[in-house]
This record gives sequence, C-alpha cells and structure tokens, in this order.
Amino acid sequence: MQSQGVSSHYWQGRPIWAEIDLDALANNVRLLKSQANGAALLAVVKANAYGHGAVAVARTALAAGADRLGVICVDEGEQLRRAGVTVPILVMGHTSSSAAQHLADLSLTPTVVSSEMALALARVASERGIEMPVHLKVDTGLNRYGLSPSEAADLGRWLRDLAGIRVEGLFTHFASADEGDKSYMVEQHRLFLSVAEQLNWVPIRHVSNTATLLGMPDMSLEMVRPGLGIYGCYPSNHVKRSLPLRPVLSLKGRVARLTSLASGESVSYGHTWTAPRRSLIGLVTCGYADGLPRALSNRGSVLVRGQRAPIVGRVCMDMCMVDLSDIPDVAVDDEVVIIGRQGEEEISADELAELCGTISYEILCGISARVPRLYLRQGRIVSKQTLVLELQDEVAANVPEGVLAEGPSPGGA
Ligand SMILES: *Cc1c(COP(=O)(O)O)cnc(C)c1O
Repeated sequence: MQSQGVSSHYWQGRPIWAEIDLDALANNVRLLKSQANGAALLAVVKANAYGHGAVAVARTALAAGADRLGVICVDEGEQLRRAGVTVPILVMGHTSSSAAQHLADLSLTPTVVSSEMALALARVASERGIEMPVHLKVDTGLNRYGLSPSEAADLGRWLRDLAGIRVEGLFTHFASADEGDKSYMVEQHRLFLSVAEQLNWVPIRHVSNTATLLGMPDMSLEMVRPGLGIYGCYPSNHVKRSLPLRPVLSLKGRVARLTSLASGESVSYGHTWTAPRRSLIGLVTCGYADGLPRALSNRGSVLVRGQRAPIVGRVCMDMCMVDLSDIPDVAVDDEVVIIGRQGEEEISADELAELCGTISYEILCGISARVPRLYLRQGRIVSKQTLVLELQDEVAANVPEGVLAEGPSPGGA
C-alpha cells in the first residue's frame, strides 16, 4: 500500500495514529487568507488545534501567512509561548481577573468583558510600566459571552483613557453563520458595526469564523478568525464550498489481529452483533478513549484494502472490531483508515459526525492525546508527538531504544 512508509511508524506496538498533512494545512491557510479581502488572519488553534496539535499547527499556519493565533484559555497560550511562538495570541474565552499577572508574564492578549478585568490588567501593566493590548467582545445575539452593545461602547470609551490598557480589538461572534438563512447574521453584523462606529479609534475589528469568511467575505473587516477551515473541513452543508480546502487529518491504524467466528457467534460487550455467517473479524486498536465515538457501534465503517468494512459490535474504550469477511486477502498489519482516504474511498470527519448526530468539530477535537500525531510534508514524516514525546522534529528526534517500534519494512515507499 502506498502509505506503508509513513504508517510503518507506531509506538509501543499499538497501531493507531493520526497523520497531519502540513502541506494541506498551509494550503488551507493561504486559500482562506486570499479570501479575506486583505484582512489579517488569526488562526484559531484552540482545543489543541481541533485535535491536530497546537504547536505544529501554529508554526505551519504562521509560516503560511497567518498573522496571529487565537486560543480559549491561558494554558493554551502558555503552551505556544513555551514552544517559542512570539506572535500576538488572543485569548478569546473567559479569563478571570486573577490571571492578570500571568497574562502579562506571557504577553497574551486577553478578551475583556468587564471593568473589573480591565482594572486588574491596568494595575499589573502600571506596576510593570507596560501597556497591555486587549480586545473587547461584544455579544450581538449569540447570548453566550460578551458585553451588550451599549456596555461595550461605554466600557470602550472609558478604557480609551485608562493608563496601561490599549483597546486594540473589538469583536463579536455569530450565532448562525453556517445556516442557510443569513438574516440573523446580517442583523448581528449591523449591531456590531454600530458599536464599532462609536469606538472608531479601535484598529482591529473582527467577526469572521470559517462559515462567515466562506459565505460572506465582505464582512472580513481588519481581521478574520477561521478555525475549522484551516483544518480543511466545512462548518455545515449550508456553507459554500467556494475554496478547495483539503482535509488535514487522517486517523489510521492497522489490523492488529484476525479472528474467525462461526455463524451465530457474537461480538463485543452486550453481544449486539451476531455473525450471520462464518465471519472474519479484525481487531482495530482504536476506541472511544482515542476519540472513536461509541455511537459508531454497528453503524460506522473503516477502510481496508480500499474497501469499506463495517464496525461490528460495540466500540469499546480502547478497541473496536470490524467485519473483514468481504475483503479478499486481508492480513494482519493491513492499514485501516478510520478518517481519511484509501484508494478511491474516503471517510470524512463529516461522515462520522453525521452518523453520530454531531459536527466534524467534535469528532476532530475528540481525538485524544493518546493517539500519536505524525506530521507530514510531501508524504514524509517531518515531526511527531506522542503522549510521552513532546513535538519533535523527525531528524532531531532522539527516541529511546525500544520506544519506537518499527512496523513491517516500508513497502518500496
Ligand atoms: C472557535 C472560534 C472561532 C473559529 O470558528 P470556526 O467555525 O472553527 O471557524 C472563531 N471565533 C471564536 C470566538 C471562536 O471561539
């Protein structure tokens, strides 16, 4: 199989890993930026870059033209700073005032939604003789987080003269950018602009997530904030496929073991699947603790030798079983694709999401830290990360003897 060279690497004998295509990521960042009417691009790398690995994604996105990064909490920002990332990082989520010192230590840009937070930051900034940039979040109708439009205008005016604070940005988030009916988004946008007009000295206004950037590029203002699109997925079926985004993540494994079942024998907890005939069952070492939703029990499928093989029985915490009876010549160590492409077939994060009644975001974010990440450039591993290895360049990697188990020798790749 073509990707044998890549997938022959796995750790401690458990054949399951995610491949992160950094070329696709860079391509997506460039495409999204070109769509943004000259606006700056803040790459959203919250939630471990939607499961892809925050540090590797941040570096690649910045090299491809992203200007800034967005995270949700201080820890996520700190992880990037520790990795040597120096660009502005916006903490878009809620941060309590008690974190003001820490935010300053790390040169993170907080989102401010209260005068208490602003005062705490101003105090720290004054003590240090610095000025801290902040962004004000306006809630224009998502009714989740932010200041009301009138509060935002009032706080903004007050902060203009508060020493130590510089209001660098003003932003809002849309409730239904990924839906067919854009009227509520247009209303939110109008409300946002009415606040921005009152604070017209604030240099960076931003409203666009992926769905907005793809559907309404005219709303881009000074900066856009795509997340999902960077990872090559579309937020919903209502969002225009106006750019050829490429999926970045594949989730792969190998057939770990083959078992023959007689007709009438049943598989996994609760015996929810019974072999209708003599069957060949493959063990895949991926379970719900790795991010394969249990809802896929008896519903999902995987790719083996370019064909779909159904998941049979309940998905367990650490493994699942697939019916390989219809796949000729199947063998232990054959590649299994859970998300991604194999031959002519493809299983997208969207397909899994639909089967589970959720969205691709949740599938991607759910791929847990236990799953090794392999980072690829032009089909070759350039770095990797596991539970026990920090992100390491492949050339520089100094992997202790026996930790890195080689699979079967690369099949001519
Ligand atoms: C997550 C998030 C984004 C990115 O949204 P996508 O739909 O993934 O593009 C943008 N802005 C804020 C405030 C977010 O929390």
